[in-house]
Amino acid sequence: MEVERWLGAHCPVCGGSLDAPGICRGCSERLRPRRWQNLVFLGSYRELRGAVRALKFKGGRRISPPIADLLATGVRESGWQLEAVTAVPTTWWRAMLRGYNPAELLARQIAERLDLPYLAVIARRYTVSQTRRRRDERARMKPGTFYLRRELEHRRWLLVDDVWTTGATFRAVERALRGGGAEAVYGAVIAARKGGAW
Ligand SMILES: [Zn+2]
Repeated sequence: MEVERWLGAHCPVCGGSLDAPGICRGCSERLRPRRWQNLVFLGSYRELRGAVRALKFKGGRRISPPIADLLATGVRESGWQLEAVTAVPTTWWRAMLRGYNPAELLARQIAERLDLPYLAVIARRYTVSQTRRRRDERARMKPGTFYLRRELEHRRWLLVDDVWTTGATFRAVERALRGGGAEAVYGAVIAARKGGAW
């Protein structure tokens, strides 16, 4: 039974015992999608660090459905008139280590809930220095870091990532999408760093 798989485990958000799949009922009720400019998110990185880590490192497939539910609700309430969903691509070695890209996993589930196509239209250029860059240095991310893998057939996009820090990654992907003809790019992330986004 599904119930046996999560009983006795801990909620990655509050650390309490898990009484529902992914995140506990208390957290599901407490967490509400918030909006800041073109971004929907669930809270601060400090508050949601556990959820972000769980999505990346263990049980990601279990925690993503309730997170996707919440984010999809926030996006629906925004009235953004979206046409398609994509995710910030991870580096190939991270995807290989984990077997999946957490942002893509989330993006696919959000797309499904919004009845929109998920399209992997963005690729990431491999650079050695990228791994050594600190947070403040990422703010100067080169425009060519991300590029389009194919022509865009949609104009209004939702871009999904796990965390918003400085917004540099988001802006770099947005530039690539706009370069391909996108007219509007909105974001959905689990957590945003205070001072970074709001
Ligand atoms: Zn909880």
